[in-house]
Amino acid sequence: MSLFDKFQGTADLYKLLLESTGRDPFGVSMDEMKGPTRAMVEGKEIVLAGTNNYLGMTYHEDALLAAKDAIDSDGTGTTGSRFANGTYAAHRQLEQDLAAYLGYKHCMVFSTGYQANLGAISALAQAPNDVILIDADCHACIYDGCQLSGAQTVRFRHNDPESLDKRLSRLGDEVKGKLVCFEGMYSMFGDTAPVKELVEVSHKHGAMTLLDEAHSFGVYGDTGRGVCEADGVKDQVDFYSGTFSKSLASIGGFVASNHPELEYLRFSSRPYMFTASPSPSNIAAASAALAKISADSSMRNNLWENARRIHSAFTQLGFDLCAETGPVIAAKLPSKEAAFMAWNFLMEKGVYVNLAIPPGTPNATSILRLSVSAAHTPEDLDVVVNAYTTLAGELAQASVDA
Ligand code: PMP
Repeated sequence: MSLFDKFQGTADLYKLLLESTGRDPFGVSMDEMKGPTRAMVEGKEIVLAGTNNYLGMTYHEDALLAAKDAIDSDGTGTTGSRFANGTYAAHRQLEQDLAAYLGYKHCMVFSTGYQANLGAISALAQAPNDVILIDADCHACIYDGCQLSGAQTVRFRHNDPESLDKRLSRLGDEVKGKLVCFEGMYSMFGDTAPVKELVEVSHKHGAMTLLDEAHSFGVYGDTGRGVCEADGVKDQVDFYSGTFSKSLASIGGFVASNHPELEYLRFSSRPYMFTASPSPSNIAAASAALAKISADSSMRNNLWENARRIHSAFTQLGFDLCAETGPVIAAKLPSKEAAFMAWNFLMEKGVYVNLAIPPGTPNATSILRLSVSAAHTPEDLDVVVNAYTTLAGELAQASVDA
């Protein structure tokens, strides 16, 4: 039984959540999808504002058609890894297209964004002489990449180039390779990194950088190339990682770079070599979404327009927001319990957002995380704003009563 003991704390929390409202915030079932921003849940149509469908492309006709065509021509699965079982032309084509879009010379596609970070970090840095420095708020897959690599890992304070500088200065002469990992936009709070400063500090110390633009690809920068484009340092980033599961409306991931040595990862990165390659329909949908966003900025413009509307409405309602206007709009709640009640209240009002509570959040904060989509219609946004307006009234009343 001792194998199961470790689950008890979480199981008790789940039980408490379920007993208090009859609803599991981490297991919401979308019984029937009604489009990119609507689904049937518990027999009721709700607005989806807790997905990462930033550009709203999951039902775009180009992506749908390309995915269906790919199934007809290339089948439903690749049944193996590219290293062991071969590469499809579409994998190569997407790598070339992503490299061209981002302006890098090389690109490698992985089966998920998780594996892209896991695969790049674990292959690039190794024990005993390499060191990885990571922003403390990095995503789990960056932490897991560090573990898999076995290299010494040092955390620096979130979004703090000075903290990075200090930690790099303290490294001894025995250290050979140094890899600094951080993200463009952080998905919980929606805050963006000082990419330019972090790159400058890293290079000053002879360290290479891996920037994860999972949430910012297609969204930030004048042409959607990410926060590094907005900061004017795209060409100085050593390794740029991303995912197909957000703005590219599919599943898969990639790492792009100007270093030709990226290609070595094809025979040294375990998460690339020992898992099946992305299926034809996933590759085709991502390729179609990439072609669309390369040619048409209207989805990005819609997204920002929607984000401005929500951010300004929530600010007026007095919510304590975690970041400036952006595709992720997270509101802080005073406690885990308050956040859970608020999350459930929004579900009752027909709005699905993400509940995020410690230990999964920065600074032990409890938040309601809303993600905006370019596909949200004005009616969707009305439902969201009305629900938050009623919620703000409830929270104000509760604090008076307390
Ligand atoms: N990086 C970040 C910052 C993420 O938030 C995520 C997942 N949400 C990933 C990577 C992994 O992406 P994927 O879903 O493609 O595995």
